[in-house]
Amino acid sequence: MTATHSCSDAASRAGSASVKPSLAVIGSGIAGLSAAWLLKQKYDVTLIESHDKVGMGVFSVDYQSAGVDNRIDIPLRVFCDGYYPNLLALYRHIGVEIEAGDHAGVFFDHRGKEVLHYGNVALGRYRFSLPKLKSLFSWRAWRLMLAFRRFNRLAQQALLTDEQLRQKTLQQFLQQQQIDGEFTEQLLLPVLAVTCTCDYHSILNYPADVILAYLTCGVWQFGIIHARNGVDDIVPRLTQGIQVQTGQTVQSVRSCGEQLQLTLADGQQQRFDQVVIACQAQQAAAMLDGFDQQQAWLRQVPFETSTMMVHTDSGFLPQQGKGCSAVSYCLPPQGRQRPQVSVDLTKAIPRYRQQGTVFQTWHPTFEPGAGQLLAKVAFTRPLVTLESRAAMQQLRQQQQQQCDNRLWFCGSYLADKVPLLDAAVDSSVAVAEALGVEIPWQAAGH
Ligand SMILES: Cc1cc2nc3c(=O)[nH]c(=O)nc-3n(C[C@H](O)[C@H](O)[C@H](O)COP(=O)(O)OP(=O)(O)OC[C@H]3O[C@@H](n4cnc5c(N)ncnc54)[C@H](O)[C@@H]3O)c2cc1C
Repeated sequence: MTATHSCSDAASRAGSASVKPSLAVIGSGIAGLSAAWLLKQKYDVTLIESHDKVGMGVFSVDYQSAGVDNRIDIPLRVFCDGYYPNLLALYRHIGVEIEAGDHAGVFFDHRGKEVLHYGNVALGRYRFSLPKLKSLFSWRAWRLMLAFRRFNRLAQQALLTDEQLRQKTLQQFLQQQQIDGEFTEQLLLPVLAVTCTCDYHSILNYPADVILAYLTCGVWQFGIIHARNGVDDIVPRLTQGIQVQTGQTVQSVRSCGEQLQLTLADGQQQRFDQVVIACQAQQAAAMLDGFDQQQAWLRQVPFETSTMMVHTDSGFLPQQGKGCSAVSYCLPPQGRQRPQVSVDLTKAIPRYRQQGTVFQTWHPTFEPGAGQLLAKVAFTRPLVTLESRAAMQQLRQQQQQQCDNRLWFCGSYLADKVPLLDAAVDSSVAVAEALGVEIPWQAAGH
């Protein structure tokens, strides 16, 4: 067999052979899980994960209180109609139940004074955000809400008419449109810093169209939803029929004749016909041996690290959380780059409502009181810049066009959108399509 053949040759060889070709997926976050699940149609799939549990559920903690046992996923992983077409189609196809959560939110300035407080009202499939009573009588809240309306209108207009938008950063868009500074500092950047889990300056460096497309996708109209029973319900559905090797770290991937050879941290070597690397960009770059061009593209993806804590300490909220909503933003003093944001899980997620109050705090600025910490996790998260987007576009093109490919990449950093769950599934759908695999929900016409 020669090293070059057409994509359809590769697909039909995979489909017609009585023994399926072997394929390894490295990394079991949602990108790896969805890739493995799609590709098992035509390949004998082995999923390799460095943690002892499948990646998506690796940081979940058990929480017992008020006589109820529950598992808390870290991070929570919420989503919305409008921005998650691939994730929603996948979850619906495999039977994951989805429900709405409460996304009411309150913003406090760094002295603990309320800036804006909104609730959500359901009307059919729509969930509107409306100001709470105190905010109705606050000039500051009204200024922010009016600035938000103006921003939204300009964002929609720019997405439709500004041909240069793809070349601009968010900062350039904000300056050109003279977006109100108070709105940017007190509402826009804090919300986006949480969505993208990064500093304000990284948000300002995002391509403007990526952020504007996210903000105008329906997140304000349709509200926030989540998988009703969490990761424990998702992982078994996605790993059915797949060999899963946990506790195995891949150190290197290199060509070996017509196959690819993986070297694991314990020295073991495994060969596969195809390999999909579904780790973060910097992790993928580090394991490549002899794929210089792909490595150079992957190294263009910046990333940031941050901390998430699960705890029961209401001292993280002004007035011990009295009168707070599901999500509380504590804005940083001038010059600091991230807000401290706490989600009261007993308000946000129906399955925790019977339990004692428990919070998930992103970017905590102090430690919880004694005995109140349930988990503390450090995450890395990719960012998007104009340069990284161009590099990922080249990587995607190379994957689609070079038909003798044996090495594939997927992950939330690869799609041309905010690196959230949908971007990860989007990237695995692209790999599956390039390998001639039918996407079941597309075939079913969803
Ligand atoms: C704090 C926080 C909150 C978030 N909240 C949301 C949210 O509410 N909604 C949303 O849509 N998105 C959210 N996200 C983003 C979302 O979690 C990511 O988009 C998603 O996890 C990306 O999935 P992935 O599969 O691309 O990567 P990952 O989840 O990072 O998976 C990569 C996997 O590869 C494994 N791995 C790495 N190196 C190796 C190796 N050498 N060998 C073997 N295995 C390896 C890792 O252990 C990991 O399990 C959040 C992110 C963070 C950090």
